[in-house]
Amino acid sequence: MAKGKAKTKAKKTKKVKTVSKRKPKKIKVAKKNSKKISVISVSANEKKKIQTEDPILMQSPRGMHDILPGEQLYWNQIRKSLNHAFLEYGFQRIDVPILEYSNLFVRSIGKGTDIIDKEMYTFVTKGRDNVALRPEFTASIARAYIQHGMNILPKPIKLFSTGTVYRYDRPQEGRYREHRQANFDILGEQDPVLDAQLIQLASRIIDGLKIKNVQFQINSIGCPKCREEYLELLTSYFESKRHKLCHNCKKRLESNPLRILDCKEDKCAQVSAGAPQSIDHLCDECRTHFKYLLEYLDELEVPYIINPRLVRGLNYYTKTVFEIWSVEEGKKHSLGGGGRYDELIETLGGESTPAIGFALGLDRLIMEMKRTKVKLYKESKPRIFLAQLGELAKKKSLKLFSDLEKGGILTAESFGRGSLRSQLRTANRLGVEMALIMGQKEALDGTVIIKNMSSGAQETVPREKLTALIKKILKKNNVVSVRPKK
Ligand code: AMP
Repeated sequence: MAKGKAKTKAKKTKKVKTVSKRKPKKIKVAKKNSKKISVISVSANEKKKIQTEDPILMQSPRGMHDILPGEQLYWNQIRKSLNHAFLEYGFQRIDVPILEYSNLFVRSIGKGTDIIDKEMYTFVTKGRDNVALRPEFTASIARAYIQHGMNILPKPIKLFSTGTVYRYDRPQEGRYREHRQANFDILGEQDPVLDAQLIQLASRIIDGLKIKNVQFQINSIGCPKCREEYLELLTSYFESKRHKLCHNCKKRLESNPLRILDCKEDKCAQVSAGAPQSIDHLCDECRTHFKYLLEYLDELEVPYIINPRLVRGLNYYTKTVFEIWSVEEGKKHSLGGGGRYDELIETLGGESTPAIGFALGLDRLIMEMKRTKVKLYKESKPRIFLAQLGELAKKKSLKLFSDLEKGGILTAESFGRGSLRSQLRTANRLGVEMALIMGQKEALDGTVIIKNMSSGAQETVPREKLTALIKKILKKNNVVSVRPKK
């Protein structure tokens, strides 16, 4: 029987091989909870080739890039600034997965948006789950809020998150397929004072990074109640100009007319310029909310521009929407944006929870910092180099390095090198002030030689006095190379 089975298997394998030579064999993949079978066209041969024969391209995937050590000064500055801001404004950090079930994003961001229709990285896992790399944070935050029963926590709940997001867009300057965002959300309150505070927080971060020439563009797109009437007006306006719209917008006219206002095509932008504006069709509640927001911003002295055409490319927004633009020589880049999403949590099955949030595009902030030649903080650099010679000295130096580190003294070393001359050459290259040298004799005596790198003068000191002595010399030289206490 076993033999028979084996024979059938062998036959089958043979058959697949011959078929796949002529025509790619289609692998059938059943989607979970779906009666439909979707077919992915990958031949068995192709699959094998991908694994074994494809040359490895020594480059990151298109639209994604490495952040090399040389770039980290910018990133450190941003991290420092964000960490400071989120704590100062009472936010707590939350980390959510990079991957979520795809329908979370579809339901939140909405069909008819570029993100859902064109840009999501979706795939089916081995367990047949439809998942997507996150194209933004808000949907995950809302999901986590519901999943972990955060509704019982004292309001408002302020959450900060940061990480990579993925959009399958056409890469160009400042537009990547993987980019990093910092995300601030306030859940549980609908008072416009929170909208104002959040915009002020964005403004503080941008100012803190010394980025100039930015504009805060603000609008209100109303709530579902007033939007109904507005959408009717908008639809009949676009209907009358249907012939002037691009192919996609003709489709949007049926499914999601508000999204026509996001379209980047020139002809659609021209049509949109004459479209009715949401701000003229707000209900009393939305109008009052917007009025108070503007008053609070005036009070906070945060300059803004009311932009009645700003709608943001996601469906979950209600009332306030805003974007931060850098404006230079007629060009504008969006550095961040956000708005209220008072209905989202209920739409996803949670209890009615008003909320507002915004995201900053960190790669874009860095682009701006570079363009405007922002001065970076200097990182503290080691001023001491620890050199060793011989097996025993190497062993003892390891411990000495750790003692110096514990004592708050930044020290450079190159333990992997045996020659004293090459170690001192490295010390010279690093521009340190002092080299600590431990040879066989010093290792046995419990001493260390301190060599002044500019004068060449040397003195031998007992190990137990070393940390205090170095601190004293550094202080005397007025060099800030002592790490601040944690
Ligand atoms: P959004 O969620 O589209 O409002 O994006 C928030 C911010 O992320 C934008 O204002 C940009 O600064 C940044 N951003 C959005 N898409 C990209 C992208 N493809 N590449 C780089 N940064 C982006």
